[in-house]
Amino acid sequence: MATHDIPKVSSSAEEYLLTLYRLETSGERAGSSQLAKMFGVKAPSVTGMLRRLSERGWVRYQRYRPPELTEEGRRVAVYLIRRHRLLETFLVRFLDYSWDEVHDEVQMLEHTVSDRLLHRIDHKLGQPSYDPHGDPIPDEHGNMPDHTLVPLTRLEEGSAGQVGRVDNRSRHLLSVIGEIGAYPGASVTRLRGTNNGKLSVRVDRREMQIDGEVARLIWVKPNTNSLGSTVGAI
Ligand SMILES: [Zn+2]
Repeated sequence: MATHDIPKVSSSAEEYLLTLYRLETSGERAGSSQLAKMFGVKAPSVTGMLRRLSERGWVRYQRYRPPELTEEGRRVAVYLIRRHRLLETFLVRFLDYSWDEVHDEVQMLEHTVSDRLLHRIDHKLGQPSYDPHGDPIPDEHGNMPDHTLVPLTRLEEGSAGQVGRVDNRSRHLLSVIGEIGAYPGASVTRLRGTNNGKLSVRVDRREMQIDGEVARLIWVKPNTNSLGSTVGAI
């Protein structure tokens, strides 16, 4: 299905769709009181929003049951992800934004971008499959590129791989990851030995010790010889 006929979505509705999508793809579900806690709002405002989303046919929602995205709701969420990630890619590649400042900028920008502009950006970029953080960009039919990644903390000692994506939830840690050079595409080896929660790693040619907190945000595509042993741990 094409992504162009997406109707206007308010930014708070967007936040709900994206959150539900994220929960769903990680195999979790949250009821309205958990959602209220996540968004820092009161329960009635969550139920009000869920009711509006269900009227639009995007969410299946019954009282006392965790809400679920409908097929259509999922399609809208995937479109929103595509728009966000394409804009981030554009800002980094053409406007020299650093990858830790781009997210906030895109959050301000994304609600006003037309489909026509997005289409042009996609083509200018050569229809990329990954954003600067290495997150997959759904194509215009809503298909996600495939990949099998594990957090660096789950890579076995002695195994190597390539950085596939970096979790961008902390701006501070993102700049640490930038300093050690663990950008998507960098090769990384988990060396033997862990002490005080620090992992020994080699990123490209540099050996170093990094905090587990940082390593958990670095997602690695293990080299094929080590894939068999790590894939079960996902
Ligand atoms: Zn972002």
